[in-house]
Amino acid sequence: MLPTRGYAAMAAGSPMQPFNFSRREVGPSDVRIQIQYCGICHSDLHQVRDEWGGSRFPLVPGHEIVGTVNQMGSAVTAFAVGQRVGVGCFVDSCRECSSCRNGLEQYCEAQCTWTYNSTERDGHTPTYGGYSNQIVVDARYVLRIPERLPLEQAAPLLCAGITTYSPLHHWNVGKGHRLGVVGLGGLGHMAIKFGAAFGAEVTAFSHSEHKRDDAKRLGAAAFANTSTPETFSKLNRYYDVILDTVSAVHDYSAYLELLKTDGTMILVGAPDQPAPLSAFPLIMRRRRLAGSLIGGIRETQEMLDFCALHHIVSDVEVIAVQEIDAAYERMLKGDVRYRFVIDLKSLT
Ligand code: NAP
Ligand code: ZN
Ligand code: ZN
Repeated sequence: MLPTRGYAAMAAGSPMQPFNFSRREVGPSDVRIQIQYCGICHSDLHQVRDEWGGSRFPLVPGHEIVGTVNQMGSAVTAFAVGQRVGVGCFVDSCRECSSCRNGLEQYCEAQCTWTYNSTERDGHTPTYGGYSNQIVVDARYVLRIPERLPLEQAAPLLCAGITTYSPLHHWNVGKGHRLGVVGLGGLGHMAIKFGAAFGAEVTAFSHSEHKRDDAKRLGAAAFANTSTPETFSKLNRYYDVILDTVSAVHDYSAYLELLKTDGTMILVGAPDQPAPLSAFPLIMRRRRLAGSLIGGIRETQEMLDFCALHHIVSDVEVIAVQEIDAAYERMLKGDVRYRFVIDLKSLT
């Protein structure tokens, strides 16, 4: 077993603390990655505080992992020692079901193996995430990070990036479309960048007026303050697609009214509580309400390559592991521009 250092929550909501554990030895199809940076996703916070239920402790979060390969199994040919690589939200899946065979491992019929707060396919070994110095992952679940992308700014692409790229792609958002992005956090700021890169006219919906200038800088054509009731009357039936990234419970019906006939609202934000929903905004204009979960390995690689081609990275604030609890508090207040990324060199 490989002795590994990390940071864990020992119980729901307890402060993050140093935690030593073991990774498996490198098998024939595995790579061992020296982790350099790991992004902080709001999903980490939901799970550390057990807001979705079923969290298992000790819990080492982190699924926006980048680093370099420092050991490879005998059967691995796709990577080289020293190569820059990434790991996202899952580290394995059944590999046999129709979802897995179609590159949609995130929807694996037998449930994919999440990077943390999950169980390896042996049925008992817990998975631990990227708030740690190294990880061992089967090579087919490892991504190449193109040379043009600075590592710390590439880390958030592994979750915030693919989670917004995938639905925009799936619903063919592009030229001639009006896209509303709700919530300007880690996911939201990437959605604005992708929406603009795909050619859509993007509006950033935010309850934080101070993000107005940033929204434009990130590529939004307009900013709409959701604390102002007139926003909703003024933009009634304006949008083709709305991507909702908000982490807290809110009223979906109000946003549905902003869609044209046949418009689609896609939820990626995952609040811990259900929200009320009126049937009328859907019925009256044949609107659709949909959801989307991260993206598969093939599409994640495609997204990384697209980012390299179009110079798209995440806006990050790099922190030390000792600052994670403070970062969580700031994230809850919307005080992050726009993703915290842990520098694992600080893990001593
Ligand atoms: P984040 O950086 O904290 O951003 C969330 C944004 O939501 C905030 O910046 C804020 O934007 C808005 N918001 C937060 N609380 C609010 C409130 N009480 N009322 C109104 N707006 C509020 O979080 P994130 O990392 O982007 O993640 C967002 C959500 O997506 C989380 O629930 C996360 O678990 C989920 N997620 C889902 C997937 C998936 O595959 N579907 C993947 C990753 C994450 P403004 O200040 O601009 O209003
Ligand atoms: Zn995430
Ligand atoms: Zn499967």
